[in-house]
Amino acid sequence: MSAQRGRLWVVATPIGNLGDFAPRAREVLAQVALVAAEDTRHSAPLLAQAGVHAPLMALHEHNEQAQAQRIVARLLAGDDVALISDAGTPLVSEPGYRLVRAARAAGCEVSPVPGPCAAIAALSVAGIASDRFVFEGFLPARPAARRERLQVLAGETRTLIVYESSHRIVETLADLRAIFGDEREAALARELTKRFETVIAAPLAQIHARVIADGDQQRGEFVLVVAGAQGGEEAALLAEGRRVFALLREELPPARAARLAAAISGAPRKALYADAV
Ligand code: SAM
Repeated sequence: MSAQRGRLWVVATPIGNLGDFAPRAREVLAQVALVAAEDTRHSAPLLAQAGVHAPLMALHEHNEQAQAQRIVARLLAGDDVALISDAGTPLVSEPGYRLVRAARAAGCEVSPVPGPCAAIAALSVAGIASDRFVFEGFLPARPAARRERLQVLAGETRTLIVYESSHRIVETLADLRAIFGDEREAALARELTKRFETVIAAPLAQIHARVIADGDQQRGEFVLVVAGAQGGEEAALLAEGRRVFALLREELPPARAARLAAAISGAPRKALYADAV
């Protein structure tokens, strides 16, 4: 690889607490020729506070392809460039993979400067099996699409991690309860590393009830960590039964939907009906 080429640094920044700004992140940001940031107005004060004065370039979902070409031209000219996001690790529910791909395709080195990530921070305090997990990012915003996605995920046996905003946290918890069942263990991590950090670790029904009862728990940024479905044939049958039941329930009364869902899936009718009442 040519010594003339610059390196693309993918740099994690704090998810709330500036004390989490890693020394190496500051060093790298201080020595690059250009910093690509999702929202330059948001990142400018953070960088100024860290003593970083490199020029900023906006790179977001809508201009990534074009900006990637400009950044690759700078890398090929020998400049080091850093990519940051508004908070946490770039590319995690953030733009950036097209830029990384373009830099690699141009023969440039790409190096991470790892650091905060809300999903991993939440997993680390959830107290839920963490050896295998799936990250779903944000669930669909539209209720019907969100429920459909959750129905697909209901039988997933690995721990599930999703991001959610204050606008939808109550609805999403209600959907999770209806589709995964009241008793599924979960943890709701809110405002991690910030002043009003809260982690509620409890079955879904209890988390939902606490969030409804306390308006403060509906504010801020959220990560939901949900235990995977219990393995085994019985649990798989029940998950499939719930999926079929949820679909039929849209058209039929609960007792009829439960009877049919049980006949189709082999899951116990009583368990399906109990979820609905
Ligand atoms: N790239 C970021 C990361 O590494 O975590 C995630 C960016 S994503 C656009 C923003 C979402 O991450 C928020 O809506 C929220 O779900 C989650 N999030 C970010 N900061 C958080 C925090 N301090 N506490 C809880 N969730 C947070």
